[in-house]
Amino acid sequence: MEVKYWNKEIETIEREKLEDLQFERLKKTVTQALKTDFYRKRLPEFGINSAEDLSSLEDLRRLPFTTKNDLRDAYPYGMMAVDRSEVVRMHASSGTTGTPTVIYLTADDLARSTDITTRSIVATGGGREDVFQNMMTYGLFTGGIVLHYGAEALGMMVIPASSGNTARQFKMMKDFSTSIIHATPSYMLYLHSRMEEFGIKPEDLNVKKAFVGAEPHSEDVRKKIERLWGIDVYNSYGLSEMNGPGLAFECVYKDCMHVWEDAYIMEIVDPDTLEPVPDGEFGELVLTILQRDAMPLLRYRTRDLTRIIPGACACGRTHRRLARMKGRTDDMLIINGINVFPSQIEEVIMRMPEVGTNYLIVVQKNGPLDRLIVKTEITPEILTDDTRDLYALKKKIAENLKASISLNPVVELHEHGVLPVSEGKAKRVVDER
Ligand code: AMP
Ligand code: ZN
Repeated sequence: MEVKYWNKEIETIEREKLEDLQFERLKKTVTQALKTDFYRKRLPEFGINSAEDLSSLEDLRRLPFTTKNDLRDAYPYGMMAVDRSEVVRMHASSGTTGTPTVIYLTADDLARSTDITTRSIVATGGGREDVFQNMMTYGLFTGGIVLHYGAEALGMMVIPASSGNTARQFKMMKDFSTSIIHATPSYMLYLHSRMEEFGIKPEDLNVKKAFVGAEPHSEDVRKKIERLWGIDVYNSYGLSEMNGPGLAFECVYKDCMHVWEDAYIMEIVDPDTLEPVPDGEFGELVLTILQRDAMPLLRYRTRDLTRIIPGACACGRTHRRLARMKGRTDDMLIINGINVFPSQIEEVIMRMPEVGTNYLIVVQKNGPLDRLIVKTEITPEILTDDTRDLYALKKKIAENLKASISLNPVVELHEHGVLPVSEGKAKRVVDER
């Protein structure tokens, strides 16, 4: 297997040197953090008044955890550590209840983020000769633009296709001999399901690899995409709070994802006790970003469950690897790559006077994609009206939901008493996938 590096020195750095570098960068991060309204208040409560209060990397554990709610509470500027004039970019998470969680980057932050995404692409064997069709959504979501920058910096020809428009995706792939695709795993399966209709066979295309991420998927799904498309598929994990893709990526060996540890410190903790779990065991991933001046984030609880893979990788990189994500510790659903909290749906429908008190959220497989069904109870007054009104109401609920969660749900209206009522804690979500 041919192994290529983008920055061999840093990618194969000795562990001891890597940890020294992490400690230096952690101190700088704490210094930055103390410039934000949020951490200026929080850190002294934990006895941290300056970076000098940390004497070794182990002191990371003296720092407080940060949560998604902290980010929401600090919206819009409570986590900004530089003057706003220094900031060149912002992004937001793909799904949040009400207040979005946002991040900021200075020009230097952006350059460093781009560099690790380039590293990730090179680790899969990608190079200047490739044509890269980026089918992740462009916009506030980090998935599209962030990897775009890394691909461009590498010198690949980038097609910023974004998601959707099957006919155009196929046309570009054929006409420009696309060799690498970046998409959600479900979109890869969906595209394959429509090939026949467009008279396309995978062997007519020049696609060699796909980077898939943004949603949970199993090893079987990876193998299925590989088999159907006749390509190599690499898992990519990221989250907007940590600058999105590029954080953890598989190398040519496709055996779990390297985390660029000069840019992030990872910890795996027991989600209940928040104590570290022994190496190699499953727990919640906690990340500290080391290379972002505009918005430091310390010990951020990702809510994703995974484990660190013990031992070295055959590629020679010293940066440790993470196993495929096993699930989440909260109720966040990922539907066609978009994060949705059940509470967001509840908020929208309960605001509407026509809707009764009971509802049920059902998520199903719809071929390779997901289908969201929102079943709501309607008030008796509405029920007596004619079907046109019911149709209009369905449409209104669907539109309000679309505006809030960026997904098109199927809305079903039900008479009072039809939807299941549970005694005790209501079960509002049925995930049938
Ligand atoms: P966002 O902030 O919108 O980019 O969403 C980030 C979340 O998407 C993560 O916290 C994970 O739950 C999920 N996610 C992203 N990439 C993957 C992946 N490769 N495998 C499983 N889940 C993923
Ligand atoms: Zn490797």
